[in-house]
Amino acid sequence: MTRQVMKSQTSVIQGVGESLSEELHQMKLNTVEDVLHYFPYRYNHYELKDLSEAVHDEMITIEGKVQNEPLIRFFSRKKSRLTAKLLVGRYLITIVAFNRPFLKNQLKLGEQVTITGKWDQHRGSLTILELHKGPMPDSSRIEPVYAVKGRVTVKKMRRIIRNSLAQFSKDIVDDLPPFFLTRYRLMTRQDAVQEIHFPTSRERLKQARRRLVYDELFLFQLKLQAYKMTNRVAANGGQASLSIDHVKDFINTLPFELTEAQKKVTKEILDDLHGPYHMNRLLQGDVGSGKTVVAAIALFAVASSGYQGALMVPTEILAEQHTESLKAMFKPFSIQIDLLTSSVKGKRRQEILEKIRTGQTGIVIGTHALIQEKVEFNHLRLVVTDEQHRFGVEQRRLLKEKGKEADVLFMTATPIPRTLAISVFGDMDVSTIDQLPSGRKKIKTYWVKTDMLPRILAFIQKELSTGRQAYIITPLIEESEQLDVQNAIDVHAQLQQYFHSYTVGLMHGKLTAQEKENVMTAFKENQSQILVSTTVVEVGVNVPNASLMVIYDAERFGLSQLHQLRGRVGRGAYQSYCILISEAKSQESQERMRMMCETTDGFELAEFDLKLRGPGDFFGKKQSGLPEFRLADLAHDYRTLAVARQDAADLLRKKEFWKEDIFLSLRRYLKDSGVLEGERLD
Ligand code: ADP
Ligand code: MG
Repeated sequence: MTRQVMKSQTSVIQGVGESLSEELHQMKLNTVEDVLHYFPYRYNHYELKDLSEAVHDEMITIEGKVQNEPLIRFFSRKKSRLTAKLLVGRYLITIVAFNRPFLKNQLKLGEQVTITGKWDQHRGSLTILELHKGPMPDSSRIEPVYAVKGRVTVKKMRRIIRNSLAQFSKDIVDDLPPFFLTRYRLMTRQDAVQEIHFPTSRERLKQARRRLVYDELFLFQLKLQAYKMTNRVAANGGQASLSIDHVKDFINTLPFELTEAQKKVTKEILDDLHGPYHMNRLLQGDVGSGKTVVAAIALFAVASSGYQGALMVPTEILAEQHTESLKAMFKPFSIQIDLLTSSVKGKRRQEILEKIRTGQTGIVIGTHALIQEKVEFNHLRLVVTDEQHRFGVEQRRLLKEKGKEADVLFMTATPIPRTLAISVFGDMDVSTIDQLPSGRKKIKTYWVKTDMLPRILAFIQKELSTGRQAYIITPLIEESEQLDVQNAIDVHAQLQQYFHSYTVGLMHGKLTAQEKENVMTAFKENQSQILVSTTVVEVGVNVPNASLMVIYDAERFGLSQLHQLRGRVGRGAYQSYCILISEAKSQESQERMRMMCETTDGFELAEFDLKLRGPGDFFGKKQSGLPEFRLADLAHDYRTLAVARQDAADLLRKKEFWKEDIFLSLRRYLKDSGVLEGERLD
């Protein structure tokens, strides 16, 4: 019933006729609810000022008593100047208004007024901006300012909202059960909507915002998780369990002990593989935290039980590297691993496709072309994607489709603040490896200006002479007329000249897959000691003997990219270094450089990046898939998001939620959003 009223056309609001209703429609405000939820984007704060503390030219609000009939001088028909004397406490001042002769009516001798305006200390005068009769009313201290359009002025908007509140605030439904309000000391939704528009104090405004942000995030989470619950795909019938003994044997053959974090996420994943529903899980872990071996265990579990697994990566280099390391790990066991990238062609390709189709192949490793093509599997049970953040939205969708048939594990080394991960990859479970294998030495990071180049070269020389290798990263492949930044081809030529007794490799995106592989292999086998490259080496590449990463024009890279690049070193037992060469002119880039030197913790960097750039930029606007909120701002409110998520999860698990009356309105909300019918969310 009450909801129905909220859906009424805006013309039911007092003072809103047909034409104003049309204007509101232009602002996408069609219903009473839309209007009530059209929140101010900022506020004017008026606070009474003691004149003795007022500063010249400051905007101040004062209360005073009118001392004379205002004088008005007209300069022309439109131009005029009004003046009057006002007693403010012990001070007698002049108030001035230009071209507003009608203010005279509100300035009656002996009456009290409240005025906001600009203070001229030298003349002892105040130029009127706003004038109210009487002392300052509590409610006008903070005035809402709305984004408006066309003939709707801010003043008009205030009036419309004031009227809507008077007429309809009683119809605002509080979806939250009362115990939530006590638990978090939240004001009622009615109060919150009233206060967000017309705050009675700064504190109340803050509380109103807190309440409404919580609402927004909680309802969002409730929807998301209800969706997840009702849309979980039951693993079709014959999900025979996997042999855990085999898995234990495999783990025992590893040359190292798993870290606690690796053990924890491995268990989460194996539990999913055994569970009645298909896995849809994000595994995040910092660079070098050892995600590959976790993926290997999961793939092993599947393959050793007679099923198939697929591992997909964004680049061919990575596909080859993974094939190599998985083959090494699985050597003692008879599991067939095949590489399927676009460079596998002709007869060889047909053979592999056939082996996959008949189930001879246990594990397929390839680039994401794997999902785009019609590769036919015998019994695909697990799909793992490495460096997931590099996949576009489309690939993610395809994968989700695949997920209807198999378990899906997404791995990413871009540490996403957990709370944000939850909202971006909302309908997934999230596992986090929050620990590096022990014994790693912290990578020492330095930020230097270009004039230090001679010393950097000397440092590279020193590392090379102890047998180590170095990566040199540049933003561009070749010289550009537009950009004054270093390019790989020139730097490669310079360094080959300088370090003539060493071999310098060159890697960039314009090389063919075969060329890239040759360059990479040479570097891996220490046939070249320096590798000059663009960011193609960014993800996943593993050369433990490399101990030095030098990044030219480092300000041109984002924090997470710098962190990824730095992660190419420090993968062996050697002390490793990262040198950021940058003039870093803007404050933001300086902060990025400083932050890189300060910490090697990817999660810390990610949180910092999030604050620095906001969530939209953090993920890149187009692909972010971030929901848009009315009030909540994930850069600031992501802690609330975590709380809301937990609350939603707890609530959905309760039997009472599905029965009791106090949850009726939340259930109705879910039903209205189509979640309970199993419709799609996005
Ligand atoms: P990432 O998470 O960045 O993909 P990798 O899986 O490439 O990291 O692992 C980085 C390196 O750490 C590899 O050389 C791997 O063999 C090693 N490693 C992984 N787990 C452990 C562990 N528990 N103890 C010691 N070394 C480990
Ligand atoms: Mg990796």
